[in-house]
Amino acid sequence: MELTALDNIKIVTAKESKITSVDFDNLSFGNVFTDHMLVCDYDNGVWGDPEIKPYEPFTMDPSSRVFHYGQAIFEGMKAYKDENNDVWLYRPDQNHERFNKSAVRLAMPEIPEEIFIDGLKKLIEIEQKWVKKGKGNSLYIRPFMIATGHGVVASPSNQYRFCIILSPASAYYSGDVKVVIADHYSRAANGGIGAAKAAGNYSAQFYPTKLANQEGFQQIIWTDDATHTKLEEAGTMNVFFRINDTLYTAPTSERILDGVTRKSIIDIAERDGIDVDVRPVLVSEIVEAAEKGTLKEIFGAGTAAVISPISGFSYKDTYYELPKLQNSFASEIKEKLTNIQYKLAEDTFGWTV
Ligand code: PMP
Repeated sequence: MELTALDNIKIVTAKESKITSVDFDNLSFGNVFTDHMLVCDYDNGVWGDPEIKPYEPFTMDPSSRVFHYGQAIFEGMKAYKDENNDVWLYRPDQNHERFNKSAVRLAMPEIPEEIFIDGLKKLIEIEQKWVKKGKGNSLYIRPFMIATGHGVVASPSNQYRFCIILSPASAYYSGDVKVVIADHYSRAANGGIGAAKAAGNYSAQFYPTKLANQEGFQQIIWTDDATHTKLEEAGTMNVFFRINDTLYTAPTSERILDGVTRKSIIDIAERDGIDVDVRPVLVSEIVEAAEKGTLKEIFGAGTAAVISPISGFSYKDTYYELPKLQNSFASEIKEKLTNIQYKLAEDTFGWTV
């Protein structure tokens, strides 16, 4: 990995590594963290020097603004190891850009590339042994920022903490995913924060998702808040529909997160001659296509699972089962995308860093 020009970074290494106590064959996603984290504090208009230090709890004042007014944003990305033991990031510039868009929307400070990207490279360089070889294995990267300023005053904080933590992950099998199309609850509204990776967007999803789980569905396909007629996201993923041999996905908007996986899928599909139509997708046309048998696939797209096929959906108490395809677009595109991430295929797009 290329070394960085982060001169002002302070590094305190952990006395002992936890790695020998980790069962890499039985990882549950997002529960084990590496030995170090990156922390950088912001105070009254300036970012301080970033520090890499042992992973440990924070001490925070109970009046810290994040606890009361929810100024909290995050990112989700991964590092992969190739057959030569080199470690690769996938389109980290996209995550950095999106993080800063989220920051602006939540009235938080933007973070410079030297801290987000160069700091991340330095942290991963130190934690390389936590990135395991083999397709499916990765190191999940969670950069986040919280408002640390004191005072139960409903206005933006003057102090923030940026932090990056890392969690080893193995292949993610979502199993059989049945979804329900939302006709009452929404995850995002026009003029709201749906396009930001803001913590509050996720807590707002938990209750409706719990109700869907009780009905036997794993996830919700979110529709537009105003009319509930347009299909927008699947759980915490972007969503694609295949009718005949064309892929459809909604355009990004202030209600939809601009997913890195989504845009990569569009580029790969277009390169390889699959028709992709980026336009609003109506609930009515999906129901009609399912009834006619022209709806071939629905899949979610996101960093954690890459592509997660959906086996059927429910809309207003009717359940529609999707066909089980041998050569699905979902498996074909997932293979191509992961081959780029693991350096098993030529990265003609220049996405790996
Ligand atoms: N939509 C939402 C709401 C998400 O949280 C995510 C990320 N988990 C995505 C879409 C997919 O984005 P990406 O491909 O960048 O992971």
